[in-house]
Amino acid sequence: MSIQHVPENLPKRIQHFIGGEFVDSVEGGTFGVLDPVSNETYLEASAGKQADIDRAVAVARQAFEEGPWPGMLPRERARVLYRIADIVETRNERLAELETFDTGLPITQALGQAKRAAENFRFFADLIVAQADDTYKVPGKQVNYVNRKPKGVAGLITPWNTPFMLESWKLAPALASGCTVVLKPAEFTPLSAGLWPEIFREAGVPDGVFNLVNGFGEEAGDALVKHEDVRLISFTGESATGSLIFANAAPTLKGLSMELGGKSPAVVFADADLDAAIDSTVFGVFSLNGERCTAGSRILVERSVYDEFVRRYSERAKNIKVGDPHDPATEVGALVHPEHYAKVTEYIEIGKTEATLAAGGGRPEGLETGNYVQPTVFVDVPPTARIFQEEIFGPVVAITPFDTDEEALRLANDVKYGLAAYVWTSNLERAHNFGQRIDAGMVWLNSHNVRDLRTPFGGVKASGLGHEGGYRSLDFYSDQQAMHISLAPAHTPKFGA
Ligand code: NAD
Repeated sequence: MSIQHVPENLPKRIQHFIGGEFVDSVEGGTFGVLDPVSNETYLEASAGKQADIDRAVAVARQAFEEGPWPGMLPRERARVLYRIADIVETRNERLAELETFDTGLPITQALGQAKRAAENFRFFADLIVAQADDTYKVPGKQVNYVNRKPKGVAGLITPWNTPFMLESWKLAPALASGCTVVLKPAEFTPLSAGLWPEIFREAGVPDGVFNLVNGFGEEAGDALVKHEDVRLISFTGESATGSLIFANAAPTLKGLSMELGGKSPAVVFADADLDAAIDSTVFGVFSLNGERCTAGSRILVERSVYDEFVRRYSERAKNIKVGDPHDPATEVGALVHPEHYAKVTEYIEIGKTEATLAAGGGRPEGLETGNYVQPTVFVDVPPTARIFQEEIFGPVVAITPFDTDEEALRLANDVKYGLAAYVWTSNLERAHNFGQRIDAGMVWLNSHNVRDLRTPFGGVKASGLGHEGGYRSLDFYSDQQAMHISLAPAHTPKFGA
């Protein structure tokens, strides 16, 4: 087995970052963070609790009320966001090696993350400068206009898959809008979030605007959700956690944006370009180790091409190179954490009792330690199977045949989730009509997940509530106050005259 690559100058501990300073937890607690190849603790992170969240929210609130960030001209904030983007790009290699070490993502896929993160900052910088609001004229009587203002302190709660990039997807619109933030990264993977304080400092973000509290969801995350001075929570994570957060946020009536789990269908019709469909559906479920919210983890294939599809797909899956995440030849690395590895392998065992195993199904040979799983293909999967219905979030795919368009649609919609869907056909009418009838927040025709940042991002059903993307994100982080200006004396009934 290869020797594990360990990045140079790894921190031994990670603190919170509050009001421009690195600080320990008020109660001094820490938690151990593992790397997914050795599964040994390589650093201690400060374990945030109620007192640390209180402290971070108080600082963020002060930075919001006393400024200058919320009151700056959009152009001035945009300049800072551009600087953030430029600095993020200069950290590309460092970010990739940290992300790969902490999450087990293959290095070639981690290398794209800084560019994506930088683009998020540039995009929202451009958008905030171009932002225009409506005015409404009532001739001779009134002019009404929208006074857009940042909402206040935003709580950002993020998962462990592509952590840095997903943090940027929330930080960029929150900061562009003029909010101040408290970020609570996932406890499995806090390493790369430790890059933000230096990046923001160098870019000129005022102290107190960005605050970071590490810790467990049930402690730090929960305290953030319940805090009465936090005006909104943007959450990405599991659907069950999303439901709990919804309930916990109710007493303080917060704005909520929920980007949740998925079990997305890829529907392959017989008239599709099969080569392209196979390339895309293999990549769509096995890239990012299968730990991808929009993974096309259920493939529905028209019966006349089913056998050929299954044969070719399984051969490809067997050839995928699983190994050391830092090796540039690796296509699937190590799953993030032993707990997650246990969950994925349990689903594989369940799958063996529900369907036919066509590839994978266990630990790859020669990789006796670390959270490695073979790319696993189940075929003839009935829609009642748990591996058809439930999100596995690993390199496991369920393939099911269909005979008619109606049956394909029923199968596509027959799960509680509705995040993404992929449709493969050369029939233009079918592509649109079928795609529009799928219960999914996002549909791709003849491609996998390639996005324009202006489009809505989010799911329906158990996959989410609220859409971000483009101006929707700015709307989420802003209040739109209606200002009514009289142009003539208002007619007022004279009570008590
Ligand atoms: P998770 O729900 O376990 O945790 C996500 C975050 O929530 C973590 O920071 C965690 O500490 C925090 N958290 C947990 N319990 C909490 C509580 N009670 N109160 C407040 N915060 C709490 O999810 P995960 O396992 O880290 O991530 C994987 C999930 O994320 C998958 O379901 C995946 O589909 C989903 N995901 C969705 C999208 C999307 O855009 N829709 C993107 C990426 C990941």
